[in-house]
Amino acid sequence: MEEARDLILSHISPLPPREFLLPEAVGLVLAEDAVATSPIPAHDNCAVDGYAVRWRDVEGASPGAPARLRWIGDLPAGKSPELSLREGEAIRVGTGAPTPPGADTVVPVEDTRLEGVEVLVLRDPGEGANIRRAGEDVREGEVVLRAGRLLWGPDLGILAAIGKWRVLARPRPRVAILSTGDEVVEPWEEMGPGKVRDANSYMLAALVAEAGGVPIRLGISPDRNEPLEELLKRGLGAGDAVIASGGVSMGAHDLMKEVLSGAGELRLWQVAMQPGRPLAFATASGKPVFGLPGNPVAVFVSFHVFVLPALWRMAGREGSPWRRVRLPLAEPVRRKPGRAYFLRAKLIDTPGGAALTLTGPQGSGILSSCVAADAIIVVPPERTVLEAGAEVEAWLLPPSQVRVARRPVSLPA
Ligand code: AMP
Ligand code: MG
Repeated sequence: MEEARDLILSHISPLPPREFLLPEAVGLVLAEDAVATSPIPAHDNCAVDGYAVRWRDVEGASPGAPARLRWIGDLPAGKSPELSLREGEAIRVGTGAPTPPGADTVVPVEDTRLEGVEVLVLRDPGEGANIRRAGEDVREGEVVLRAGRLLWGPDLGILAAIGKWRVLARPRPRVAILSTGDEVVEPWEEMGPGKVRDANSYMLAALVAEAGGVPIRLGISPDRNEPLEELLKRGLGAGDAVIASGGVSMGAHDLMKEVLSGAGELRLWQVAMQPGRPLAFATASGKPVFGLPGNPVAVFVSFHVFVLPALWRMAGREGSPWRRVRLPLAEPVRRKPGRAYFLRAKLIDTPGGAALTLTGPQGSGILSSCVAADAIIVVPPERTVLEAGAEVEAWLLPPSQVRVARRPVSLPA
């Protein structure tokens, strides 16, 4: 399984970066260092509504012995100071207003009383209080975000704050998804005898979107070469990667291997794992093509084991999509040797702490075993006998994700 994953990843590269407007960049990986060309705040400014003063004039003020200052004018946010402050004077300021020259402290309005043109300061706020210094958040020349950063809310805030409204980032991987099988029908279609509804492509489209990709559903191909080749070709045209499901086993109607070999280079077939054994991986037109098995549980597992790390790499993300935990099994598990098992499990509370229990029958057609799952237990090939209480590695579900990007709000003209 690990060998297969390494082989697949060796054929995956990060998508080339391009320029994005800021609102489109959420969920993308930054491909450049973002450097502040000016400080934040740009100038010293007032942190509260109140009166800019010289601290020495209000030192020791109290309700019983207020300091009395002369109100000489107003400075709201967004205006540049016209007045400078001299001894015994106060300028009424708004939050965000530049600190008037001569002032070193701002007294919050609630600690003052205005009587005519006299400001009574009822409390000493302390020297330098309520002044925000230029550059105290970000210094000029500082790298605020490094290349490789997955952009989220505060990142976009700070990019906007440094005036960076276009960023170089890696695009979301576009992933074409197709289903195969003479028996597979769309969910709204008549079932008919022997038919099965296409669970896979809807599941895959959702998983791709949650992983930060753009899913492109191509539909269903019957088990015949020409339509399958045609759909694959469309997928290669539309996507940065293609995911197909079904038709990779050893049945007479399993054409995927042949079609993949025809369209490109078949790199891999069959992995020592369960579910997901008959996985095929190819490259065609320079793009990765995943031939996942048809069973929905195998699709779910092999997406997480192989496709998700590939999408991460294409998106330029670092690290692992997995939040791994080691927890005891609540029940014994027996497996055959020679292959890795991926069991779907629920997290439960026990008197001894958190534990994992299987989500019922684990057959590869039992999609409800995935619906109920909080985690995927990874059982390595050599562990065939697991007693209750044995520690196992599990991957928490859902993996670290980027939620589907909403349509970006538009920039003002
Ligand atoms: P295959 O890998 O094509 O032999 O398919 C294995 C099993 O998965 C068969 O029982 C198929 O009917 C089922 N299957 C294949 N594709 C889908 C799909 N898109 N949605 C649900 N089940 C499927
Ligand atoms: Mg099939």
